[in-house]
Amino acid sequence: MNDKIWLSSPHMGGNELKYIHEAFDENWVAPLGPNVNEFEKSIERYLDANVQVAALSAGTAALHLALIECGVGYGDEVICQSMTFSASANPIAYQGAIPVFVDSEEDTWNICPTALEEAINDRIAKGKKPKAIVAVHLYGMPFNVDEVMAVANKYEIPVIEDAAEALGSTYKGKACGTFGRFGVLSFNGNKIITTSGGGALVCHSEEDKNKAVFLSTQARDNAPHYQHSHIGYNYRMSNICAGIGRGQMEVLNQRVEARRAMTKFYIDLFKDIPGVKVLVEPNSDYFSNHWLAAITIDPKIAGFTREDLRLGLAEENIESRPLWKPMHLQPIFKDSPYYGNSIAERLFENGLCLPSGTNLDDGQLSRILVSIRNIATK
Ligand SMILES: *Cc1c(COP(=O)(O)O)cnc(C)c1O
Repeated sequence: MNDKIWLSSPHMGGNELKYIHEAFDENWVAPLGPNVNEFEKSIERYLDANVQVAALSAGTAALHLALIECGVGYGDEVICQSMTFSASANPIAYQGAIPVFVDSEEDTWNICPTALEEAINDRIAKGKKPKAIVAVHLYGMPFNVDEVMAVANKYEIPVIEDAAEALGSTYKGKACGTFGRFGVLSFNGNKIITTSGGGALVCHSEEDKNKAVFLSTQARDNAPHYQHSHIGYNYRMSNICAGIGRGQMEVLNQRVEARRAMTKFYIDLFKDIPGVKVLVEPNSDYFSNHWLAAITIDPKIAGFTREDLRLGLAEENIESRPLWKPMHLQPIFKDSPYYGNSIAERLFENGLCLPSGTNLDDGQLSRILVSIRNIATK
């Protein structure tokens, strides 16, 4: 059997171990220290905005703290893009709040601004104004920032920007993660860069960042003994993980270029295969890091389904994966309200993510190419 080709695997830059050694040499083996501080600063410089970043144990933790800082509590409603990974929605439930799911638009696959406004109006008519909006830059593709922010601002609802998949993406030249009241990043092992596990909350004031750090370190009041007037969390990033992050930030631009080259590889490959569309930017306002290359297949034109392709690749030991199953179709969220049509459902039915790692060699790329051509022409 050929070696396994993964959808997306960690790709070290070279300096990660140096920063980990520094942590050991200085005995900063703790959830604080120079690597944490420097990692935060390097993200702030990269996003190139007046942002303050708090490094955390996971992107999910960042989403949870963002909701808390937006004042989301028991019984509140929070709007969330339906087409996403469950981590976008689960923290809403942690707060005892109710997610209200919204469909995608065709061109970015992200939250549809029209369905969003319809949802807000209907929830207000039913007696509750949503407390926050979780919008996601799926697979690195920016959502329609201008229109989504216009709707959010019109109703004065804060946006939590889930940029877990979109570090390195921009909209009109501005970094994803910097548009909302809060931005969320993830450094899980499968993301464009990794700290093995980790995340960050992007804030727009010192006060918001300090509050995130306070909550993420057990909410300890300023006193010589342990005094608590808030419920706290253990969500801070380890100084060892942050060392990996420092090394990864040094190669982030190269990783973005390489991911984009992977999507280009699939665009070329599918040029001659009718009925298959690769997810690309709708226009030059959008710049995607193309974290995962994603396609939709029209089986009537292509003559094969996404399952035909997925199973055919699996036989060759090549991993591929259906698009995120929309949250409004998930058993855990079956009672939550949903607004929109069936765009997310159709994307799920016909969509597939293809291997997009930045460390694939020419031999692996040609295995992918040959396998897909064989399945498509069978
Ligand atoms: C990965 C991911 C998260 C969660 O990040 P973790 O660091 O794994 O907790 C949240 N939202 C989306 C869209 C993601 O892809």
